[in-house]
Amino acid sequence: MAEGFLLVLSGPSGSGKGTVSQALMEKKDDITFSISATTRKPRPTETNGENYFFLSEEKFKQMDEDGEFLESAFVHSNYYGTPKKFVMDEIGKGEIVLLEIDVQGALQIKKNYKEAVFIFLLPPTMDELRNRILKRGTESEEDIKIRFNNAFKELDFVGEYDFFVVNDEVENAVNDIEAIIHSEKLRVKRHKDIKLNITRQGGK
Ligand code: 5GP
Repeated sequence: MAEGFLLVLSGPSGSGKGTVSQALMEKKDDITFSISATTRKPRPTETNGENYFFLSEEKFKQMDEDGEFLESAFVHSNYYGTPKKFVMDEIGKGEIVLLEIDVQGALQIKKNYKEAVFIFLLPPTMDELRNRILKRGTESEEDIKIRFNNAFKELDFVGEYDFFVVNDEVENAVNDIEAIIHSEKLRVKRHKDIKLNITRQGGK
């Protein structure tokens, strides 16, 4: 059996990470989504424990101090973190665990978890990115500005990732990510019990 691994998906706000992750989760039953903790206020469509664990800043900082996060970062004026225990338990069961996190978090994972796979999701154009952030209509004008400026900074980090996927159409992006997962599962190093029976020509 292949070992579980971390699949890190990053991309600027408006690149469509949420939509792509959801579509991917619906198609694949061997992927578990890691629900992050955040100090951000929930959007009207979001539910605690489903989209995020919405925490007070005090509680978040306590958990961080107690080493309960695999990584954590301050993104667009709020704290975000990946709960460690859940992720490690799922990996232990052979699951692929999807972390939808920002570049700061991805760099922390890269340092500590060499076997993780890193995908950067790109919008087809920066104009389209801006349209998507505006269309969502859930952020204040100030927050939209912060997110758009951060998008440019985040794009500088694409070179730190293993793969890029362009989200022109959700279906295309999901197909690309499925192809990446498929080949990652075939990596010899992910199969401890593989036996390669190679016989030399001539039967030696
Ligand atoms: P949003 O507020 O739009 O849900 O997310 C804002 C940003 O925070 C996105 O780039 C998202 O990927 C990132 N994010 C969400 N959860 C985590 C997390 O646990 N850790 C880190 N580092 N970033 C996160």
